[in-house]
Amino acid sequence: MAKIILNKAQVSQLVWDNRYPVKEEEKFLSRCIDGRYEKNSKLKSQMSKLENNNFLPALSIPGADLGELALILATANDFGLAVDYEKVFQGLIKVVGGLKNFSYHTDSHHGGLALGCGHFGQILKDFVAYNLQKKDIEFLEEKLKFLEKKDVLPVILEGEHLEGAVLLIKGDWAVYPRYYLATDEGKKLVEVFAYHQSLADERRKILAKRLIDDGAVVLYPGCDEDYLYQVMSDEAENHLFETLNRLGKDLPIYSVVFDAQGGFDIEKR
Ligand SMILES: [Zn+2]
Ligand SMILES: [Zn+2]
Repeated sequence: MAKIILNKAQVSQLVWDNRYPVKEEEKFLSRCIDGRYEKNSKLKSQMSKLENNNFLPALSIPGADLGELALILATANDFGLAVDYEKVFQGLIKVVGGLKNFSYHTDSHHGGLALGCGHFGQILKDFVAYNLQKKDIEFLEEKLKFLEKKDVLPVILEGEHLEGAVLLIKGDWAVYPRYYLATDEGKKLVEVFAYHQSLADERRKILAKRLIDDGAVVLYPGCDEDYLYQVMSDEAENHLFETLNRLGKDLPIYSVVFDAQGGFDIEKR
């Protein structure tokens, strides 16, 4: 299937039809930036048990919670911070509201626990580019096995990668990434990579405080949780664009800013 690169008008159409409001009580549950999540598909995961089969987390970040765990370790490596690996994992679990909410995914043709996650796949291929070390990868793989043992299973995405744009989203609305776009030759399936910037920031602020309070990350004297939040944000941008440069190199990037009523502005970056 040929991939359609989306222009601003097409992205507008997609966002208009696929937007949905963020639910306050679910706003810290995550999914990956992957464009293959379905609005109405049964997610083969713990997540689908939370409310109903149509539930899709609004907060989209590279690799979902597995990616966020990798991000904390990379931040520590990059900025020379001391970390307690187990406390980092437990701190993230607390912020997502318990082990059963830990979100990660694979896909039907790669299998494994997270091999079908493009972000995690790139991390495995070239962890140095993500400021990670071999021992970090071993820790992530150990935690994946632990999650499986506890019956916290990955979402299994289906189908081809058809992402034709990158959306950087701000506001209290989210976007389903898959869409049937009307074209001259009938309806065509399209997808977008979606990063929910404002929800990611909001959760990361709370996570930074949690990690400090729990002694999971030890900062230099004079540095506080705002510093940790800042360096995690810098590293998050590194991770996001490292993966986008690898998986969506020539894709246009659009910022989508929602108002409270679901109205939005789109700008090409
Ligand atoms: Zn795959
Ligand atoms: Zn992924």
